[in-house]
Amino acid sequence: MPFVPDTQTRRVALVTGGGRGIGRAVSEALARDGFNVCVNCSSERSLPGAESVAAELAEKYGVECAACAADVSDSEAVDALFSFVAERFGRLDVLVNNAGITRDGSLLRMSDEDFDRVLAVNLRSVFLTCRRAAKIMMKQRWGRIINMASIVGVVGNAGQANYAASKAGIIGLTKTVAREFGARHVTANAIAPGFIETDMTAELPEKVLAGATERIALKRLGTAEEVASLAAFLASENAGYITGQVIGIDGGMSL
Ligand code: NAP
Repeated sequence: MPFVPDTQTRRVALVTGGGRGIGRAVSEALARDGFNVCVNCSSERSLPGAESVAAELAEKYGVECAACAADVSDSEAVDALFSFVAERFGRLDVLVNNAGITRDGSLLRMSDEDFDRVLAVNLRSVFLTCRRAAKIMMKQRWGRIINMASIVGVVGNAGQANYAASKAGIIGLTKTVAREFGARHVTANAIAPGFIETDMTAELPEKVLAGATERIALKRLGTAEEVASLAAFLASENAGYITGQVIGIDGGMSL
């Protein structure tokens, strides 16, 4: 089914990695704001969890939600994901590139595989999804692309050469998308969180978290819901004149 822009129907959002952590909170914030939401997860293994998130949000907010497993680093899987969105929802208005992984280690010890995998999941995925989404959005002359970068992509971080490079890449890609599609009323922005309480930061040693908290002006980690509120704002009509920006949400850590 082709994507038919129709302002009478609900806008549709696709959230990659939308079943857990920050992505789950973004899925919920968009459902609360009246979007139909496609909740993506990485594999069949995590599909039951993503499906239960979709069912819960549909019930709670009276919108349509569905889950779809697709490894977003894989071009064919991304094709299948976009076909799923087209068939299930018939349109796409908001893309939130949230899926991300870490494989930390010092530069000297980092393997080629760990560098390539992080770049593929965190950055190549954003290229693959933006390419497909921008085509749809430019035709309908409205769209919002929101990419989850990290403050680490701005300032770097020892032990995260792969992750920092992927997030810095997202920033350059986002600014380019903003320039290429701005004339069609498609905005593209990057969110740069600091330390947010999710499974990703739960893996960090207590000492690292204590040290980080000390460097945060607000003296606490952020919540997934705080990041999701920013994403929901960027997806809204009110954010129509914001594009190509990198918006930090780090409790003042990068001051
Ligand atoms: P998280 O709790 O570890 O969740 C990661 C999400 O990404 C999961 O939903 C996971 O899906 C999905 N994912 C991973 N690989 C994927 C793939 N190949 N294809 C599709 N989905 C995939 O992480 P988080 O803390 O919520 O982080 C979300 C985003 O925010 C990431 O881009 C991260 O880099 C960024 N960020 C986080 C922090 C932080 O402090 N937490 C700070 C800055 C930036 P499954 O459920 O299927 O595994």
